[in-house]
Amino acid sequence: MSALDFLPWQRDPARRWLAARDRFAHAWLIHGLPGIGQQEFALAGAASLLCESPRQGLACGECQACRWVLAGNHPDLRRIRPDAQALQEGGAASDADAGGKKQPSREIRIEQIRSLLPWFNMATHRGGWRVAVLYPAEALNVIAANALLKILEEPPGHTVFLLVAQAPDRLLPTLVSRCRRLPLSAPPQAEALPWLQQHGVTEAQAQLAAAGGAPLLALRRAQQQQAAVPDWLRQFLEAAARGDAPGDLADALLALDASDWLDGFQRLWLDLSLAAHGAPARYYPELESQVRTLARAAAPTALAQAGQWLQAQRRLAQHPLNAKLRADHAAQTLLRAVRPAQSTPSSSR
Ligand SMILES: [Zn+2]
Repeated sequence: MSALDFLPWQRDPARRWLAARDRFAHAWLIHGLPGIGQQEFALAGAASLLCESPRQGLACGECQACRWVLAGNHPDLRRIRPDAQALQEGGAASDADAGGKKQPSREIRIEQIRSLLPWFNMATHRGGWRVAVLYPAEALNVIAANALLKILEEPPGHTVFLLVAQAPDRLLPTLVSRCRRLPLSAPPQAEALPWLQQHGVTEAQAQLAAAGGAPLLALRRAQQQQAAVPDWLRQFLEAAARGDAPGDLADALLALDASDWLDGFQRLWLDLSLAAHGAPARYYPELESQVRTLARAAAPTALAQAGQWLQAQRRLAQHPLNAKLRADHAAQTLLRAVRPAQSTPSSSR
């Protein structure tokens, strides 16, 4: 997939969005769940806006503008993202951190917004658009967000801003109010599965389910050799079925990112809650019968509390303190919810 292409499930919404380009808003907030391709949408959208002879609204791939976009040097296109993200994408960081001693920033800083000002005064190629793609908008710190707000209050001519976000409610409300919103949704399974298979994902269905229907997240997990159902989760369920405390589970979890195993537990919790209401599993269909058995015995209040506890832990996921205690507590909290009749002594091993 090149920088010009929309993902297959985005082409129709993109054509509708780009159809009225003569009355195009100057700032858009493109948002949706993580892993469905909103950043790809914004970048392909920028290419389409810059293309000199778009086909059905989308970039042609052949004109001078398209060639520049492909080469990453179109003078009327700017990507504004945290340095850490730019490095991850293989680009250069925004400032001269020659020694490389500083940790690359995870924020979009005011210098990055200010550096756009001279650009607004330059003539565009053949009088066309100038497009700034900014992602993720949540990475704007308060000062940078205010500087961007000032720009959007008196938008420069011929300029389109494409802001990409997963959680618009975490953005400065005045900034959001200056943008037209363009919500993107996850593709239907019938479109996501063939795309994953084309990208060499085996177990595409299980991976897609484990990623909550978000194809790019499923692809990334598969490329990182992550199993659709992690081993530790199976281990937890087996222990829970025995009514056992899951022995050395906390140690296994410590080897992972806290946000990874919290994700896994939250997904399991959601499947348990769905099963408790007789609904089919969303994330781990392959574990459905085990989950259903546990859900039958679960105590509704304890299950609800476990969900709240996991939710609260998400905010602390990056916090290194007491990681083992938290991993252990997570397992015990869920175990108590699904085995209310039993006390849960710590492992006798
Ligand atoms: Zn073109």
